[in-house]
Amino acid sequence: MALEDRREKGMPFTQMVIEEDSLRNGRGLSDQWADSAVVRPRTTERHITVHKRLVLGFAISILGLIIATIIAVLLSVKFEECGHESSRRAGNASAVSGGRLNQSRESPSSRDGGRRARLPWAQPRLPTSLRPSHYDLNLMVDMANFTFSGVVTIQVDCMDSTKHIVLHADKLAVEGAEVTAANSSAPLGIATLFLHPENQVLVLILTQPLQAPGRYTVKLYYGANISDELLGFFRNWFVTKEERRFLAVTQFSPTHARKTFPCFDEPVYKATFRISIKHQSTYLALSNMPVDAIIQEDGEWITEQFAETPRMSTYYLAWAICNFTSKETFTDGGISVRVYARPNLIQQGSGDYTLHIAKRLLEFYEDYFNISYSLPKLDLLAVPEFPYAAMENWGLNVFVEEIILLDPEVSSISYLLDTTMIVAHEICHQWFGDLVTPIWWEDVWLKEGFAHYFEYVGTDYLYSEFNMEDQRFLTDNLHKVMFLDGLASSHPISQEVLQAKDIDRVFDWIPYKKGAALIRMVANFMGQNVFQKGLQDFLAAHMYGNAGRNDLWSKLKEALQKIGKNVNIKEVMDCWTLQMGYPVVTIVRNERNVDILTVKQEHFIYDLNRKSTTPASSNNSYLWKIPLTIAVGNLSHISTEAMIWINNKTEHHQINKLDESSWFLGNLNQTGYFRVNYDLRNWRLLIEQLMIKPKVISVGNRAGLIDDAFNLARAGYLPQNIPLEIIKYLYKEKEFLPWHAASNVLLDLDRLVDRNKEHNIFRQYILKQVAPIYNLLGWPEDALNSSVVQASYQTKELQREVLSLACKFGIVLCHEKAKLLLSEWMETDQNRIPPNLRDFVYCTGISLMDDNVWEFLWNKYQSSTVILERKILLKSLACSKNTFLLNRLLNLSLSSHLVPDQIALEVIINVAKSPNGRDLAWKMFQDNWSMFNSRFGEALFIISRLINGVTEFLSTEIELNELKEFVKNLRKGEDASFAQAIEIVEANVRWHDQLEDELFHWLRNSLNS
Ligand SMILES: [Zn+2]
Repeated sequence: MALEDRREKGMPFTQMVIEEDSLRNGRGLSDQWADSAVVRPRTTERHITVHKRLVLGFAISILGLIIATIIAVLLSVKFEECGHESSRRAGNASAVSGGRLNQSRESPSSRDGGRRARLPWAQPRLPTSLRPSHYDLNLMVDMANFTFSGVVTIQVDCMDSTKHIVLHADKLAVEGAEVTAANSSAPLGIATLFLHPENQVLVLILTQPLQAPGRYTVKLYYGANISDELLGFFRNWFVTKEERRFLAVTQFSPTHARKTFPCFDEPVYKATFRISIKHQSTYLALSNMPVDAIIQEDGEWITEQFAETPRMSTYYLAWAICNFTSKETFTDGGISVRVYARPNLIQQGSGDYTLHIAKRLLEFYEDYFNISYSLPKLDLLAVPEFPYAAMENWGLNVFVEEIILLDPEVSSISYLLDTTMIVAHEICHQWFGDLVTPIWWEDVWLKEGFAHYFEYVGTDYLYSEFNMEDQRFLTDNLHKVMFLDGLASSHPISQEVLQAKDIDRVFDWIPYKKGAALIRMVANFMGQNVFQKGLQDFLAAHMYGNAGRNDLWSKLKEALQKIGKNVNIKEVMDCWTLQMGYPVVTIVRNERNVDILTVKQEHFIYDLNRKSTTPASSNNSYLWKIPLTIAVGNLSHISTEAMIWINNKTEHHQINKLDESSWFLGNLNQTGYFRVNYDLRNWRLLIEQLMIKPKVISVGNRAGLIDDAFNLARAGYLPQNIPLEIIKYLYKEKEFLPWHAASNVLLDLDRLVDRNKEHNIFRQYILKQVAPIYNLLGWPEDALNSSVVQASYQTKELQREVLSLACKFGIVLCHEKAKLLLSEWMETDQNRIPPNLRDFVYCTGISLMDDNVWEFLWNKYQSSTVILERKILLKSLACSKNTFLLNRLLNLSLSSHLVPDQIALEVIINVAKSPNGRDLAWKMFQDNWSMFNSRFGEALFIISRLINGVTEFLSTEIELNELKEFVKNLRKGEDASFAQAIEIVEANVRWHDQLEDELFHWLRNSLNS
């Protein structure tokens, strides 16, 4: 599953601190949540017509529920008394079933706390007495009424004798049930059937126990609405010239399959599935497997039967009902690959690029993992609205359409790379996730970390010259997650979760980005070939099954043993996966013996006050086993030392070739997941090296030094002037990556100081570094004549980075050029601004020119039909300095049909990024909190993203108190998502109190000297 990680074009106004949508020059890499989130309150037209049958079922069910409740109480009392078997017959299935179960607020036992704790349906996990082996799921989907009904027949194996059948069901109206033994057609007696909504389970209590070992069939009849929320089985629509068209699609991960059929909805309960869907013949149905029969029913209906799946978990099962068309290609091995989208988009070739790379990536992974793809086909479905950027359903990947449908008018190389990475992510999941599935959600990083890491590896396969894994990985992944993971409110990558409502909470950036960073660290200390062999063995050993982290560690250890190396990978990796955060490694030269280095490790944390007051981070025993690479260099060359393992708080190591004049550098190419600090003398030597001959230090390390220095200073480990002195060398820097790293930290720092009365001297200092390279690179020559200029990806990215910094920090020529480009467009009505520069050009124009530009771009937004262009236009409207216009924009985003739901959140976050909009966005957020919370309560990632987006640059004592006061008044449970926000604002306030003066003091002296 891919969360939104949109690298925005709007560089000057993006944030770097929390949200991923920043600072990669180009659009966001992977994943989307907030992007498709719906902000607008529901309107009548979005209400769903409830099928008459369900209304009737509901009425009957209330009565049934009352009876069921009474009977179940009696039964459960009896069950408790005799421990296993009740001899009392208590009604039959047909008498008590048919409850509109989501209405039941109380299960039989909920008034008895003590007993309840022991009841099988009151546990957070399903009882282990039954295991499903096969499902036959027959659905009837009515796209006219937006309802569906189903009959699911589940073959279960009884492992322990039990009278209770407990399986997941949520918001389903269960209308009947039958249970039979495999060798008999006679139904077993069902005493009662009820829903326990607290745990989203359906309970059948039988009159006689199922015997172990034994095989049984459980058949359930139910109905439900096609949801209007973006989870479970939900509807989508789009507008063609003639009409509004609907489609319906599923999103089951992590716990929403239970909204569409009663099932054992935990990843470990793998089974085979045979799905058939009856639907109106004007639509077509898609699912994980190909169709193997189509039956023409009466009237307008047809039934499509899908082939049986291999063993799989419920969360990546999927289906869709739409009237899309497709394009198809085949891999060398004969696997069908298709892209499905709206007919006009397929026709104009928008999906062609995705189709091409999907085929190549499928072949790449088959080769890399040495295991053929498991299914006969892979469909990539592009839908208008989706809660995530994409979902890896086996054989039926679903994407938000703007991510995989490229429009040549606005699609620059950055967009193309984003598409590539997200497709690489989802296809990787066909192995890591679908073929081999984590045992439980605590190890979700096992699939997400790998899929995220392989975004870079897969892209390097297609475009080896981009060096994504060596380069962009650092600025887009490592540096970002190290910010989040440096907070005391972070958490270990493997975190215990039990309740369904907590499972969504594990899908934050830690499993994705830290997971990828740890995997990259392992790959590097093992060596790529041995690592690859270990992965192949791991997948082969667990295919069609489940595996945990220890299974991975043991296969990697074996792979190392085969080449004669003995590393206890589990012991090493447990300290990275079970402890939160990461270490800062401080390397200090020994005064007397110059070739001896003292290496210390401690838990890196931004707010050192938190370290002493937060129990989780006050633990001084935090220790990591650190694979530290050290190089020694002097002005003309660098030599690499072998890796050393740091296991203790403090260690001393003798380093060859280290003398008085040489510097040392730790964590080469930032392959390790930690920060490195040095004694001040060594920092000075490194700065001198960068000023005189930067290329002696690798590109990755130049970017790493910048990021480490700024963050060490922000957290108070390093004087404030060191990072500012480091960036003095940038006028010599011709590579994109160090500029990108610098841009990230500078924009971040800028938002911390943008309300300081001396902000101008900070701005001038940055301009001094940017101006020489701006003058050197200038604007692309095609900016005005629209001809294609051939430039390498890195060159284009560098130019974009520098231009957007120049416009952001106020180089007059940059402003003039941006205004000129916009005026041209307004005069000629021809937009000749290169696509990859549009966001910051629009933004600069809106912030500097009069209100007519705002109106012009707002009108362009309304008239444009290109999804990406619309998004760029809308977000740039947040760059206005006019609070009246910003207010108007916020109101339009929240309440108008003119702003698509999926962009509204980003608009709000963008408004919060500018000093003029910060108060507005924060106030609007507080006023509308209950609406946001009711809309996204279930999607924690979206709500957290919004909370952090509007609060992360609050930095005064007054704002902090406002935030705390606001959180204090929230209902219980709502406050959990604010812990990180409060910590960041506290750290901002502390930085202002203790360190801001030091920064400005140095800046004043520096500019005067
Ligand atoms: Zn994923």
